[in-house]
Amino acid sequence: LADARQISVSFGPLEVVKQVDLSVHKGEVVAIIGPSGSGKSTFLRCFNYLQPPASGTLIIDGQVVVDGGRKPSNTDLLKLRRKIGMCFQSFNLFPHLTAVENVDLAQISALGRSKSDARARSMELLKRVGLEAKAGTKPAHCSGGQQQRIAIARALALDPDMMLMDEPTSALDPELGHEVLAVMRELADSGMTMIIVTHEMRFAENVADRIMFMADGKAVEIGEPRQVLRAPIHERTQQFLSMVF
Ligand code: ATP
Ligand code: MG
Repeated sequence: LADARQISVSFGPLEVVKQVDLSVHKGEVVAIIGPSGSGKSTFLRCFNYLQPPASGTLIIDGQVVVDGGRKPSNTDLLKLRRKIGMCFQSFNLFPHLTAVENVDLAQISALGRSKSDARARSMELLKRVGLEAKAGTKPAHCSGGQQQRIAIARALALDPDMMLMDEPTSALDPELGHEVLAVMRELADSGMTMIIVTHEMRFAENVADRIMFMADGKAVEIGEPRQVLRAPIHERTQQFLSMVF
């Protein structure tokens, strides 16, 4: 579904993502782990072109998004971003809108759904993330975990083929993070293709099909969760895991 090859990203003279390859199949869940500053977020953001890579090739669903570091002129970024949902550490909900209005919004503006169709879908999704009862509540009156679940519902409202998640639980207390992880697990079980940057090792082990370990901008190691976490091949991975476990 998504095929990234030799992706590099530089900020000025600093190369922060170095020739990283990652190919994700439909229905697959890949977790990206690694130390702070290793380029995880930057690499993830390349998949919906929030971060244009300096070089490399990115093919999503057969469509060339980036070729040799250049965006082909016929790449439709809006369409791409509709197909690839994203959730961040911060939820970025509109504070003046209720939960359900937040979920409605892009369905109407980006997909051209009617208000009533959008609303029906929003309620379905809020129910899916366990927040039907909060539909009429503004974000400020929801917990962090609830806000993140609203943000997930909002991303799902565009019927994405794939979800990118960047530490969606790291701003949350463990207890609230748990609610969000449960929703993510349900999404994974339902067959959603996902790339998840996370420091929740247990979650990564249980839910991901593969784990990629990044350090210093490089993909050091990728493999089955148990292998990468329990029997890492590379010293750099061992070193990282000995610090987090
Ligand atoms: P964390 O676990 O802390 O979120 P990360 O692995 O996601 O870290 P990135 O956010 O991808 O790391 O950052 C990789 C490197 O790129 C860091 O050294 C960071 O300072 C740098 N960087 C990220 N964004 C920018 C930017 N917009 N301009 C300049 N440097 C940046
Ligand atoms: Mg990050």
